[in-house]
Order: sequence, then structure tokens, then C-alpha cells
Amino acid sequence: MYPCPVIETPEATETRATRLDGALLAESLRREVRDAASAFAARGGPPRLRVFLLGEDPASRAYVAGKTRAAQECGIAAETVALPAGTRGETLLAAIEEANRDDTVDGILVQLPLPSADLARRVFDALDPAKDVDGFHPENVGLLHQGRPRFTPCTPAGILALLDHYGIALTGRNGVVLGRSDIVGKPLAALLTSRDATVTLCHSKTRDLPAICREADLLVAAVGRAGFVAAEWVRPGATVVDVGINRFEKLEELPENLRSAPRLQAALEEKGSVLVGDVDYDAVARVAGAITPVPGGVGPLTVAMLLRNTVDAARLRRGSAS
Ligand code: NDP
Repeated sequence: MYPCPVIETPEATETRATRLDGALLAESLRREVRDAASAFAARGGPPRLRVFLLGEDPASRAYVAGKTRAAQECGIAAETVALPAGTRGETLLAAIEEANRDDTVDGILVQLPLPSADLARRVFDALDPAKDVDGFHPENVGLLHQGRPRFTPCTPAGILALLDHYGIALTGRNGVVLGRSDIVGKPLAALLTSRDATVTLCHSKTRDLPAICREADLLVAAVGRAGFVAAEWVRPGATVVDVGINRFEKLEELPENLRSAPRLQAALEEKGSVLVGDVDYDAVARVAGAITPVPGGVGPLTVAMLLRNTVDAARLRRGSAS
């Protein structure tokens, strides 16, 4: 008997998952923000956002520049207070207190990460909860967990908006969230629970991650490890949301499972750097039913939700503009 030849069927090599286009949805959310902002502008001034940036980390600077540019394009008055690396925590806290008192400021955002977890906690505690557009003040965290959110943290809010936009059901479904950070994993687990999903929140001490992931109808990766989620971890037809943002400038720095992807090689050659998520996109897209790309998935929605929260903060303090 001859060994049976392995025939690669087209299905085995083609991407078959629906691409969940966050950039497109973000564009329509931004149009809504623009309309609301112009109504405020006509009645007492545009919504105003003050962003604090501590230090010179290039990624943080780029995120802040992107957020303030997006805000300005939507008619939100956004201003950045850049404090040099080494600025004392007390100086940042005093600047936040001043923004709390300033009646012309509707929303306050402090770009993360901060130099220590202790300073981050003191910053969240210091924010006026009515201006806390990231939703990190303990009062806002508590309201979210009680199912009556005031400001929903931007990334989880963006993920929910995307799932709803594509009509992906959550009730009774198994949701597995990889990563338990205060800004993504924990609030997302609370939101999915409030939408009647059955949620498993995983972290670095979780045992047998692949087996847990294979139970997921919805798998969300927010670990900060490029290409971490493999195709074998994904149940056929599952929805996969990739939150990770990992930047590489050299092919040899990419994890081995991603190095041969022509898409990434081309991007590196063309732009000199490439962004990849926490999911091995090319492999997983052949198994999943729906998947978010990186870039163009969760990232643009995070920014759109920040803008929406800023408009909500203006409404909260000044009443509706329309
Ligand atoms: P954090 O670094 O705060 O948390 C990472 C989480 O992943 C932790 O809970 C950690 O577990 C867990 N983890 C790390 N290694 C493993 C492992 N081997 N197995 C299982 N769990 C693991 O991350 P963030 O939530 O801030 O960000 C995650 C990613 O999302 C990053 O790439 C970040 O850049 C990106 N991001 C993207 C946003 C967007 O808009 N698209 C917005 C925010 C973040 P433990 O708690 O045990 O340490």
C-alpha cells in the first residue's frame, strides 16, 4: 500500500473568518460624536478634554497624539499637559486637582502606564469621577460592576460595540478573556457577565490555557504577547477578538510562528515596522468564525469610545446640548 498523499484543499489555506472591521465602525461612531460636539459648541463651547502625559515613552506619546488629533477632528477641544520623566507624583496629582476644579474641563485622561502601580492608584483616586472618561476611578469601577456604568472603560466598550454591530450573540455563550488588567480584562469580564455570557477570566497562573480557550464561543486576547493564541486553541467558528498591540522593527524579533507571514514581511519592508496582535492571525482566521485584525480592529474603537465618553462627560455636567 502506498502512503496517502496529503492534498491541501483551498479551505485549508484560505482565510474564512469574517473580518470584524473596527476602523469602519469607529468612523461612524466619530460622526455621532462630531454632531454632539457641534451641538455643545453652539451652546456654551465644545466638550473639553485634558490629557496628562508623564515621561517620554514613544508609544505613549504616539497614543496621546492620536487621541488628541482624533478629538480635535471631531470638534472636541483637546489639550495635552506633558510632564517630563522624573516629575514627582505630587506634581501630577496637583495638576489633576486643578483640572478637577476647572469648570471648563469636561473630561480628564491620564495616559498609562505610569511609573508605578502605586502612583496609578493614587491618580485614579484623585480624579473627579464625573470627569473620569477612562472609567478608572473606584466609584466608576464599582458602578460598572453593579451593572449601571457611568463611564465604561474605552477598550471593553469598543469591543462590546463591535460585537453588537456584527450581531454576535452573547447570552448563554462561553466568553474566555485572556488577561486580567484593570483597563481591559477585568472590566470586559464584568460587561460580558452583565450581558449574560458565562465568563472565564484567565491570567499567567491559569492552568491549561489551550483547553479553556477551546471552550470559548468568544475568545478575547489581551496579554501583550505577539501571536500568543494559536489556531489549535480556537474552537471552529468561534469569535476571536485581539486586543494586543505589539510593535516590531525587525523580522528576527517577531515570534517564530509569525515570521513566515508574507503580510508581515511586506509591511516591515514597506514601513520599517509592523504591528501585530496577541493572536496568530493568519492561522486563527482559518478556524475562527469571526476575527478582529491588528491594526484596524479594537484600537480605533478604543479612541472612538474615549471621544464618546468625553461627550457623555459634557452631558453629565452641563445637561444635553440638543
Ligand atoms: P497588562 O500587561 O496590564 O496585563 C497582561 C495580562 O496578561 C495580565 O493579566 C497577565 O497575567 C496576562 N498574561 C501575561 N502572560 C500570560 C500568559 N503567558 N498566559 C496567560 N496570561 C498571561 O496588559 P493590558 O491589558 O494593559 O494590555 C494587553 C495588551 O493589549 C497589550 O498588548 C496592550 O498594548 C494592548 N492594549 C491595546 C489596546 C487597544 O486599544 N487595542 C488598549 C489597551 C491595551 P497576570 O495578571 O497574572 O500577570
